[in-house]
Amino acid sequence: MRHQALVRVAVDRPLDQLFDYACPVGPLPEPGQRVRVTFGRSEQTAVVMETGQPPAVDRARIRPLERILDPGPILSGPILELLRFASRYYHHPIGETVLNALPPALRKGAPLPSPAAAEPQWRLRPAQAHPRLGPRQRAIVQGLETSGTALALHALADLTGLALRRAELKRLADLRVVEAVAHEPAAPPSASPPVALTPDQRQAVTAIEAELGTPAALLLDGVTGSGKTEVYLEAAATAIARGLQVLVLVPEIALTPQLVRRVSQRFPGQVAALHSGLPAGERLRVWDAARRGARALLLGTRSALFTPLPALGLLIVDEEHDPAYKQQDGLRYHARDLAIMRGHIESVPVVLGSATPTLESLAKARDGHYRHLPLGTRPDGSLPPPVRCVDTRVHRTDEGLTTPLLDAMRTTLAGGRQCFVLLNRRGFARVLACEHCGWVADCPHCDARLTVHAAAHRSICHLCGFTQPLAEHCPECGQLLSRQGLGTQRLERALSRHFAGVPLVRLDRDSIRRRGELERCLEAIRQMDAGIVVGTQMLAKGHDFPRVGLVGVIDVDQGLFSVDLRAAEQTLQLVQQAAGRAGRSGDPGIVLVQTGHPEHPLMQALQRGDYASMVAPLLAERRAAGMPPFGFLALVRVDGPSAESSARQAEEIARQLRRHARGVRVLGPAPAPRHRVNRRYREQILLASPTRKALHQTLAVARDGWQQHPPPRNLRVS
Ligand code: ADP
Ligand code: ZN
Ligand code: ZN
Repeated sequence: MRHQALVRVAVDRPLDQLFDYACPVGPLPEPGQRVRVTFGRSEQTAVVMETGQPPAVDRARIRPLERILDPGPILSGPILELLRFASRYYHHPIGETVLNALPPALRKGAPLPSPAAAEPQWRLRPAQAHPRLGPRQRAIVQGLETSGTALALHALADLTGLALRRAELKRLADLRVVEAVAHEPAAPPSASPPVALTPDQRQAVTAIEAELGTPAALLLDGVTGSGKTEVYLEAAATAIARGLQVLVLVPEIALTPQLVRRVSQRFPGQVAALHSGLPAGERLRVWDAARRGARALLLGTRSALFTPLPALGLLIVDEEHDPAYKQQDGLRYHARDLAIMRGHIESVPVVLGSATPTLESLAKARDGHYRHLPLGTRPDGSLPPPVRCVDTRVHRTDEGLTTPLLDAMRTTLAGGRQCFVLLNRRGFARVLACEHCGWVADCPHCDARLTVHAAAHRSICHLCGFTQPLAEHCPECGQLLSRQGLGTQRLERALSRHFAGVPLVRLDRDSIRRRGELERCLEAIRQMDAGIVVGTQMLAKGHDFPRVGLVGVIDVDQGLFSVDLRAAEQTLQLVQQAAGRAGRSGDPGIVLVQTGHPEHPLMQALQRGDYASMVAPLLAERRAAGMPPFGFLALVRVDGPSAESSARQAEEIARQLRRHARGVRVLGPAPAPRHRVNRRYREQILLASPTRKALHQTLAVARDGWQQHPPPRNLRVS
């Protein structure tokens, strides 16, 4: 067979290279197009990355392509560039990186949905007297009335917040209330009339609009309720009016049904919402509509960042501080950082919004890398609630609860308002502490707490590996030490004992396992008058609850003094976000934080309530220690079926890294904070460097080393 050219493709394998295939005579596939290839013994879906002439040597060994799947590229040039960057930057195999950017159905080789077979859109028939309708039917009619245009089923579901079935629309069509139209109608520019912006908001919108067409980064920094979402919507409206597409990233769609509804109401029929909760076929259709440019606004979680958008004009990352933007397995990436990179590649402004920006973003805003757009006060003039500490050395806790907190809850409930009780379980490390004098076991070599490893009966430092036998008594005052750690379920039980007969809702991952449970839970909270809500950081997300009078924060110390680099920062953010739930309706309410360290600078700053002054000492600390954003870190993790083999392999890798390290500090190995996961044992090595370049060089050299001498099969290195 004669071959006219060669294609270089990415396949879904953990190998850090592209593979060459010969292209039979015929139209040459372009980069971004899917093909099928024989790989080893099986056939695989692959994505063309490059095309070129076959090399003179080895020509005979190059296999031909099996077939071409797509009529044209489905991943655009900028997306391929972004994926190449991500693969290099996060040291992840290129093939897995590229294939993972596709919706699962396309990864498996399914054909693109045909736009001609687009699903029907539903619209209201000219108003006549409607027959008697049920509550769901009325909600559908209301949704279509607000939208003023025809909507596809999923768009209508987003708008109403109901999980709708096609049969329900068919039934309404039979009743001659709605009708189906086949094509995608041109949507009106905007439905709900925009509010009059405050001067701060106007200034922010103008600044964003002025950057359309340039790769600027802007930090929209304003307390909860200060009107950030309104700024996004207004800037998005301008971009859409200019024929551009807007990508809005949110941490978790399931947690923010209100935001989805607000966006869909503002841009009816033009919004595509993309998240992992969608059925595969639906996800593919939404993705493809955005890719074809048939939707002006794409709203999605972190993976939506990789959706090709032919007319992308504005990128928004809402709640940029949220840890959900960090992907923790497979390609480990940070969607906020990659969003900035996408903005560069496509010459599009990126707006990062938060009431509690990360230290990284604040530092970049300060040194001028990001444009700082502060929003001063809430448009409704309401004030954030004051924060007060309850000293747990004075007031003993009983199952996590102190008397002052319980008293304040009684007062709040008697006043007909709700109490939110937040238990920060984000810190996974259990620390050894003295409830009597506030002493906490820390590492003699690091600024870190020792972690209790109960099975091994030792305290271990996860940064440097220091270890000592588990102490029983406090070295300061001789009292019995306690291992701090309390879950929401135990707290719920304790609260129901203290407040028999008071409505009590628990909100955490376990309580909302099934689809629709979150909506029910949120609705229950909204319907409830006086009552208690206990939960994890989910409580702190952007839900709008009008009747919160008290936010109690249990066990803040666990987060503030955790071993994790970002734990203190994230705890401050969490308390601030939770505080933002209170005082949405006039009376500001109060936030009570239980701590054994009320004199600590972080606790003092929390009570002053000014986020910027809260994070100033943290920033100074990071600068002094050469930690991000002033230095660069990489983590090498080894996991294996036994603690010994993981440790041995990690030692070996650390030795290699040390041999190649130029100006890079190699810390560890030490057991990972979650040492045993899924019956595998994880060790980690931390690399710290003043420059990103030195870090990457060290990693690249060491990585070559361990690819040439790969670790035993049952060990994984990432
Ligand atoms: P954030 O996103 O910062 O939490 P939102 O945009 O959700 O703030 O605004 C909080 C509340 O204030 C919302 O109910 C919103 O409709 C309202 N709001 C925002 N901007 C204005 C404005 N300029 N005038 C009146 N109300 C506003
Ligand atoms: Zn003590
Ligand atoms: Zn240490």
